[in-house]
Formats: sequence, C-alpha cells, structure tokens
Amino acid sequence: MNVEDLLRSSTPSWNSIGLLLSYFAYLAVAGSVLPGRIVPGVILSDGTQINYRCNGLLLLTLLVFLLGIGGWTDLLSLTEVADRGLELFTAALIFSIFVTLALHIEGCRSRDKSSSLKPHLSGNLIHDWWFGIQLNPHFMQIDLKFFFVRAGMMGWLLINLSVLAKSIQQASISPSMILYQIFCGLYILDYFFHEEYMTSTWDIIAERLGFMLAFGDLVFIPFTFSIQGWWLLKNKVEITTTAIIINCLVFLIGYTIFRGSNKQKHVFKKNPNAPIWGKPPKLVGGKLLASGYWGIARHSNYLGDLLVAVSFSLPCGTSSAVPYFYPMYLLILLIWRERRDEARCAHKYKQIWGEYRRQVPWRIFPFIY
Ligand code: NDP
Repeated sequence: MNVEDLLRSSTPSWNSIGLLLSYFAYLAVAGSVLPGRIVPGVILSDGTQINYRCNGLLLLTLLVFLLGIGGWTDLLSLTEVADRGLELFTAALIFSIFVTLALHIEGCRSRDKSSSLKPHLSGNLIHDWWFGIQLNPHFMQIDLKFFFVRAGMMGWLLINLSVLAKSIQQASISPSMILYQIFCGLYILDYFFHEEYMTSTWDIIAERLGFMLAFGDLVFIPFTFSIQGWWLLKNKVEITTTAIIINCLVFLIGYTIFRGSNKQKHVFKKNPNAPIWGKPPKLVGGKLLASGYWGIARHSNYLGDLLVAVSFSLPCGTSSAVPYFYPMYLLILLIWRERRDEARCAHKYKQIWGEYRRQVPWRIFPFIY
C-alpha cells in the first residue's frame, strides 16, 4: 500500500464517523437505562463515593444479538468494521483528542471548586492535557472513565467478531484464528462478567482522565489488542496439535492466576477474614493480604495477565514479531504500573508496606523479578 492509498483508507468517511458515534450513543443510552448491579466505588480522597451501574454484560449481549439480527437479515454488513478498520482508527483517535481537549477546558473552568478533587493543574499545558487534570469527570451523569474503558473492551470484541466474519467470507478461517477468537472472547466476556472488579482498579481510583487514558481506552485497546486477528487475516500459519495443547495450557494457567489473584484481593477488601485457599488469610498490619497469590508475588495478577496475553499471540506462530505487540506492550506497561503502584502503596501504607515487601520480595515474576 503506497502513502496515497494509506491516506485515503485512513481518512474517516461519514459512514465510519456515524458508526462510531452510534456505538457511543448506544453505550451511553443503554448503559444508563438497562438494569445492572449498582456497585459503590472506593471512597475518594474528598470522602465521596461514585456508584457504578455494572450492566456491561447485558449491554454486550444485546449489542451482539442486534448485530447478529442485522447481519442475518442483510440490514448491515458484519464485515463493516473489518473493512473500515483504518478509518475507524483515525475517527476514534480524533474523537479522543477532541474529548480530552474539551475535558481540559471544562476542568480549567471549574478549578475554583472547593472539593479536594478539584482539577490538578501542573502549569504545563501539554503535561496537563496528556495526563489529565480531573480524576472522575462526568458527562450527563455518565462517569467517563468507566464509559471509555467499557467502550474499548467491547470495541475489541466487536472488531474481533468482524475480523472473524471477514475470514469466513474470504474462506481463510484457520485453527489459529479460532484459537485467538476463543481466548480473546473468553477474556473479554470474563471482564464484563466481573465488571464490578474494575471499580477498584488503578485506572478508576488513581489515574486522571487525559489524552493518555482516553487514547488507551478508545484507540489502543480495540485497535492494537486485535492486531493478531488482523494479522491472521493476511497470513497463513500451520499449527501442530502439540502447539495447540501448549497454547491452551498457557491460556488456562494465565487465566487461573489472573482471575484468582484479582478475586482474592476483591474478596479480601470486602471481608478481610475470608479464607484464602481454605486457610485463614495471612495479613500484614491488618491491612494487606500476604497469602494466596498475594503471598507469592506482590503483583501475581500482572503475571497472569501477561501469560494470557502471550496465549493470544501464540496461535500466530513465530514467523513474525508483529502479533507479539500486545504482550510486549503489556510487559512494559505493567512493569511501569507496578513501579507507580509500589510508590503509591509505600506512601499510603508506610512501614506496613515495608513489612509486606520483606515478607513477599518478588514484584511480578517469582524468583526472577
Ligand atoms: P491492582 O488490581 O493490582 O491494584 C493495586 C492496588 O491493590 C494497590 O494500589 C492497593 O490499593 C491494593 N493492594 C496491593 N497489594 C495489596 C495486598 N497485598 N493486599 C491488599 N491490597 C493490596 O492493579 P491494577 O488496577 O493495575 O490491575 C488490575 C488488573 O487489571 C490486573 O490484573 C492487571 O493485569 C489488569 N490490567 C490490564 C491492562 C491491559 O491493558 N490489559 C492494563 C492495566 C491493568 P488499596 O489502596 O486499595 O489498598
């Protein structure tokens, strides 16, 4: 593809802008009216608490059902997203630039609020726009951070399904594509099944909403996490039965660690006396969990997530590094995040954190790091 073709195929058409805006409108309206468990978030530094309506699974099921009906009745094309991938990428990018500019202007206008959560301005315009100045901005009562991450995760699945439809259409469906689709599908469905766990994650409780987060959620997650699917559309991979079995094991082990560790922490925060692996929990200073996965490494959940990420790429074989973009990116992101979380926890828990570090010396990979 030459530069001219690339520019033409990445310039958003009115169709792709309409598609993107309809998707956001669906999420905003259906997310506000469909029933869902109301989950109170953690208590913020000004003592307030945000309630989250966790109905993502219902939203996703309804959307996939509606798209399925649309495709079956020929009212819409199931390959539309895969056909307009580059256009949609650019449209989402432009949207995230504008939305973060609008948030920045709105944040500056409301900086005289008495709340301790008033916008955090560093004085450096680029820095403030990039990292954001508001912790929990809302638009028409919608919590934008929760909305954006939901849009990104759901968008990732919709892109994958469209890529799957495309591979069926061009008769290139392969065991590798099926494996990739199953692993990603399970991971994303699991995310929405446990959507309430999201309410206590770093992004929701500690990260301000600027271009970095908006771009990460709206562009990076859906368009780059799906690279393996796009790659498999164009490349053929021969995969042996042994490789399939190893691939499934990597996914299952990673998923067990990822989900198990996040669940243990979530349960512990609700009931610090709840048994861990059938035994009373080991606590540090009464506040930190030092048994189960949290006694093996201080961020076993990152280890599980990394193994799952590798399992998404293994179906693509080893002929190219491109499908390994996601695990490589995640490795860098999680090491960086672990460092920032470490600093946050050291500040919050003081000597208790020091004692936890002594008892559990490994950060992510036991005996390695
Ligand atoms: P964590 O869920 O690991 O949360 C860290 C927080 O948990 C700390 O700030 C502290 O908060 C609390 N905590 C830490 N250690 C303990 C302990 N031993 N006992 C009790 N509480 C503890 O971080 P993230 O939000 O970053 O990650 C959540 C999941 O999301 C992970 O599995 C991660 O892999 C995944 N993720 C995936 C990404 C992707 O792009 N695929 C990107 C980022 C994350 P407190 O103040 O509440 O005590």
